[in-house]
Amino acid sequence: MTEASASLRGRVAVITGGGRGIGRAIATDLARAGADVAITYRSDPAQAEGVAADLAATHGVRVRAVQCDVRLAADVERLINEAKDDLGGLHILVNNAGMTADNLVMRMSEQAWDDVIETNLRGTFLTSKAAIRHMLRERWGRIINITSVVGVAGNAGQANYAAAKAGIIGFTRSLALEVASRGITVNAVAPGFVLTDMTAGLTDDQKDAIKGRIPLGRYAEAGEISPIVAFLASEGAGYITGQVINVDGGMVMA
Ligand code: NAP
Repeated sequence: MTEASASLRGRVAVITGGGRGIGRAIATDLARAGADVAITYRSDPAQAEGVAADLAATHGVRVRAVQCDVRLAADVERLINEAKDDLGGLHILVNNAGMTADNLVMRMSEQAWDDVIETNLRGTFLTSKAAIRHMLRERWGRIINITSVVGVAGNAGQANYAAAKAGIIGFTRSLALEVASRGITVNAVAPGFVLTDMTAGLTDDQKDAIKGRIPLGRYAEAGEISPIVAFLASEGAGYITGQVINVDGGMVMA
C-alpha cells in the first residue's frame, strides 16, 4: 500500500457478501485504499476466511470474515457490533448482498417474491439502521447501496428484483436526507450486467440479447464496479449524497 493510495487508512468498512463477486472486488479496493474490512458469509467460513487472509496479507490491513444472513436482525446486529469492537469503529457500510429468483409475474411464487425483497431491500434497511447508530455518534459515515440498472429501468422476468432494487433507490434518497446534517452520505451504485455467479446461469440467448442492449457491447468485470464504490467511500466524495451512479456500459442514460 503506497501512501498516495492509502486514502481510507483508519477507516473501518463492512461489506455484506464481500467474499465473492462484486462484493469481493469492493473489499479488495477498500483494503487497497487502506481500510480495515469486515466481509460476510452465510455458510462457507473456509472460503470467506481464505479471502480475508489473502486481503490482509496483500494489503497490510485487518480483515474479518463474519457469519451473517442480512435478512435476520440479530445477525446484522452481531455483524455491526463485531466489526466495531474488533476493528475499532464503523465508518463505511457497503450493502452489496443480493440475490435473484427470476420468473414472469404470472408464474412467480410468493416465496420468490419474499426471498428477493427480504434479501435485497430488508437486508439493506437492517444493516443501515444498525450502522447509522455508530456513524451518528462519529458524525461521519459513508453508506453505499448496490442497486441495479434493473431497478432503474425494469426488466421482464425480474419484477421482484426490480422492485427490490428500485426500493433501494428510494431508501437511499430518504436516508440521505435523514442523516445529511450529521456528516453521513448515502449513495447507490447501479451496475449493469456483470460477470459473476449471479449472471453465470443466463442462457447464451439471454446473454446475446442483453449484450445487444449495452452500448459498450460487453458485460462488466466486477473490478469495473468497485472503483466508484471506493471513491464514494472516500473523503473526496463528501459533497455527494442521495445519488444513483449507473455503471452499466451506457445502458441507461438519464
Ligand atoms: P453473487 O456473486 O451471486 O454474490 C452475491 C453475494 O450476496 C454473495 O456474497 C452472497 O453471500 C451474498 N448474499 C446473498 N444472500 C445473502 C443473505 N441473505 N445474507 C447475506 N449475504 C447474502 O452476486 P454479485 O453479482 O456479486 O452481486 C452483488 C450485488 O450486485 C448484488 O446486490 C446484486 O444484486 C448486484 N448486482 C449484480 C449485477 C450482476 O450483473 N452480477 C448487476 C447489478 C447489480 P454468500 O457468499 O454467503 O452466499
